[in-house]
Amino acid sequence: MRPLADYHTHTRWSHASGSISDNLRAAEQMGLQAVGIAEHGPNLLFVGVPRRRWPALRQTVAGTRSSSTRLLFNMEANVISIAGDIDLPPAVKEDLDMLLVGLHPRVVPVGLEGWWTYYGLRWLGLLSRPCRHRLYDAFTQALVSCVQKHRVDIVVHPGYGLPIDSGELAGVCAKRGTRLEINCRHLEAIARDISRAAKASDVEFVISSDAHHPREIGGFEAGCRFVDSLGIDRERIINVAWQEKAR
Ligand SMILES: [Zn+2]
Ligand SMILES: [Zn+2]
Repeated sequence: MRPLADYHTHTRWSHASGSISDNLRAAEQMGLQAVGIAEHGPNLLFVGVPRRRWPALRQTVAGTRSSSTRLLFNMEANVISIAGDIDLPPAVKEDLDMLLVGLHPRVVPVGLEGWWTYYGLRWLGLLSRPCRHRLYDAFTQALVSCVQKHRVDIVVHPGYGLPIDSGELAGVCAKRGTRLEINCRHLEAIARDISRAAKASDVEFVISSDAHHPREIGGFEAGCRFVDSLGIDRERIINVAWQEKAR
């Protein structure tokens, strides 16, 4: 097994410990064709990169190069409304190489319905089953609308932190050419959702490290074992070479 590209890594620009060039160097040493700097969108509390810093982040990524590994300017955007809006700063929208989106529990939502769902219904859901059902429907709708509304390359860690119908999401992603992420940091938490998604449709997947330290970049071993343990066809993972061709 050889990882080809790691599209989801973090740096000190948010809350991880390496620099952009550290990540690129680590990817180079792993022999990756590409590595993505995918910092958190501004609406993620405490760790999101503020809107005003995105142009500088874009410039730094553009100015960091290697002869063997492509550095991608990606983003891990947050879904901030049930209608599928995301916190993508307009100033960098056109320059992104890949748009990754996901649900995170601690975001600043927009709109009354967004606030109610994230911070009202979610706590009520701890006590009441009907509220849990409504929550599940609302977050499923948020992600589905987001994939329909934007050109999303990857939905990150589906089912992690907030519950969704991954089967329904997978069907929409398959139609839109959006990939679901097998996130090596959260394998256990997403196992049921990935399994359900794989069975529900022929959606494709990417494996990502979600590295918060350069040494984690391209560390796909657990992710690959996970794919095999769920019986997912290896051909559906687009960023791993499972077998080297005989020379
Ligand atoms: Zn995340
Ligand atoms: Zn991440």
